[in-house]
Amino acid sequence: MRVLVVEDDAGVARVVDYACRRAGFQVKVEPTGRGGIAEALGGGYDLVILDLGLPDIDGVDVCRAIRAVTDVRVLMLTARDAVEDRVRGLDAGADDYVVKPFAADELVARARALSRRPGYLSHPDQPIILGKWNIFPLRREVVVDGDVKALTPREFDLLLYLVHNPGLTLTRDMILDRVWGWGFGGGSNVVDVYVGYLRQKLPSTPGDPQIVTVRGVGYAFKPQGSP
Ligand code: CA
Repeated sequence: MRVLVVEDDAGVARVVDYACRRAGFQVKVEPTGRGGIAEALGGGYDLVILDLGLPDIDGVDVCRAIRAVTDVRVLMLTARDAVEDRVRGLDAGADDYVVKPFAADELVARARALSRRPGYLSHPDQPIILGKWNIFPLRREVVVDGDVKALTPREFDLLLYLVHNPGLTLTRDMILDRVWGWGFGGGSNVVDVYVGYLRQKLPSTPGDPQIVTVRGVGYAFKPQGSP
């Protein structure tokens, strides 16, 4: 298997390089996003291991650029707690992600698994189970009582952000920044509209999670719901 590692941190790159070579992969390391794109588009790689935080181009944009022209598998390296980064990475077409710091063996196992997968949509995907809600982060689906709920990408991003911040009061501005991004020019009432959509689509019977309105502030996610 030929692996391209796009990572600016020399220490991390060395660990990945060593682990992949020991596993019998051929490896090339590129420290910049620009170099990574050029190398990946040159072809011949089975897998790109892509750091999200690169000095020149955001890893998400690197992923998008690679994805636009090749179907090479992409494994993202993301920082812990950066749920929105993972979501952005997967949105940009990454096949899987590994959270830093990671064990080299885990990385190699993920790389092997990706190389065997026939297609981008056939991930094993561990659901987040909350009450009757089964949330599949990679498939980006919510299954409730066996029914697949059709959420738009934005609704799903919003749901993931809420789910990963249980019990916290999230202001409309926080939600806007994380789910819509800094460049969003619309008003904060879009958050209310989307929370409304989620409440409509995901029934909340006792024991299920709930999106609670915090009057005048924003919203809080209650994983078990309120009695
Ligand atoms: Ca980095």
